[in-house]
Amino acid sequence: MAVSKRIVLHFPRRLVDRPIVYRLIKDYDLELNILKASITPDEEGLLVLELRGEQNNYDKGIEYLTKTGVRIQSLGQNVIRNEERCTHCGACITVCPTGAFELEPLTRQVSFQHEKCLACGLCIKACPPRAMELHF
Ligand code: SF4
Ligand code: SF4
Repeated sequence: MAVSKRIVLHFPRRLVDRPIVYRLIKDYDLELNILKASITPDEEGLLVLELRGEQNNYDKGIEYLTKTGVRIQSLGQNVIRNEERCTHCGACITVCPTGAFELEPLTRQVSFQHEKCLACGLCIKACPPRAMELHF
């Protein structure tokens, strides 16, 4: 099964000039789309990317990164719903490409499944009361 996830990689100074991303492509057969790259003032490298590939290869690639000393943060974990603001209008259900929102038929409440979120941001723009928030 193929997966596609948006993640943030934090490279400590000692790893900044190592060909780690190249190995993800070559050794683990992963495709990647770099969304943002920067080096912080204390010389930590930061890479925001979308990583795609077979689940097995993806898992091995993540294991390789972790063992190498790269800190991994899932972007999806940073999209949260402000429960006090949500009116359960349902506007987010149709825009979400991953089906992270579902209308529960009995209660008419809209549930949000964090683990399906790729942090694309579409629900943030679509939500009338601005209940969806992106936190970095
Ligand atoms: S669009 Fe916003 S207010 Fe409407 S159900 Fe989704 S999160 Fe709640
Ligand atoms: S940011 Fe919103 S629309 Fe995009 S995947 Fe996550 S929940 Fe779905």
